[in-house]
Amino acid sequence: MKLFETHAHLDLPDFDSDRESLINKCFQQGIEYIINIGFNKETSYNSLELTKKHLHIFSTVGYHPHDATDFDAEVVKKLAREKKVLAIGEIGLDFFRNLSPYPVQREVFANQIRLAMEYDLPIVVHDRNAHQECFNFLKQDNVKNAVFHCFSGDIIFAQQVLDEGWMISFTGSVTYPNSNLDDVIRLVPMDQFMIETDCPYLSPQSNRGKRNSPLFLHLIAEKIAQIKEITPNQVAEQSFANAHKFFRIPPDPVKPAHHKKRKH
Ligand SMILES: [Zn+2]
Repeated sequence: MKLFETHAHLDLPDFDSDRESLINKCFQQGIEYIINIGFNKETSYNSLELTKKHLHIFSTVGYHPHDATDFDAEVVKKLAREKKVLAIGEIGLDFFRNLSPYPVQREVFANQIRLAMEYDLPIVVHDRNAHQECFNFLKQDNVKNAVFHCFSGDIIFAQQVLDEGWMISFTGSVTYPNSNLDDVIRLVPMDQFMIETDCPYLSPQSNRGKRNSPLFLHLIAEKIAQIKEITPNQVAEQSFANAHKFFRIPPDPVKPAHHKKRKH
């Protein structure tokens, strides 16, 4: 199964003991691309560092609502110009844990949406208990390319998101017994969804409570396949194509020729 991991945090200390061997294992086991997501200055820079070691790891830059009080527009501008930084995110609103004051979250989200527009980059949205407000912020700036990472809304909200042409992304939470995403999974068209692990968080049910990794991404594809009554390969292939297009994955650099051809 050929897979595209669209949301990982492999730079975090959880992976310090085995990061490189795990990444190599992922690439051997069918993960072809990984987007490593930044959520503040440190993780955005560390994500970019990771991209320098692996051709098929790309990264993002952004300040998560939890880190909104540290927002520095210059960091976003600087990293947004890097070739391997493909999106602004994860950014958004989190009215569940409220680690930053609401007005700061709103201002920082709005600022980063504008930076994404300015640098023509897609947006990875973190929306926790803030569905309608996240939607309104994106809509008012006429955003075209956004993904609701770890989608947690109902089908009515999903339809609103889909009507804007935005993407919905599913994590291991779809495998939890209390998941209420089955209807959303049935609703979402084949060209508007992606899959992600959000590792080290949100391990699928069979591994719940333990560290998550891209190696479990196939479990999410399998669960979606079961609900949509299609094959896991169809889920994998379609979400791969969607992610490839959404993040605008550049072609691999052409290897220098070895001048074997004879000159006439
Ligand atoms: Zn995340």
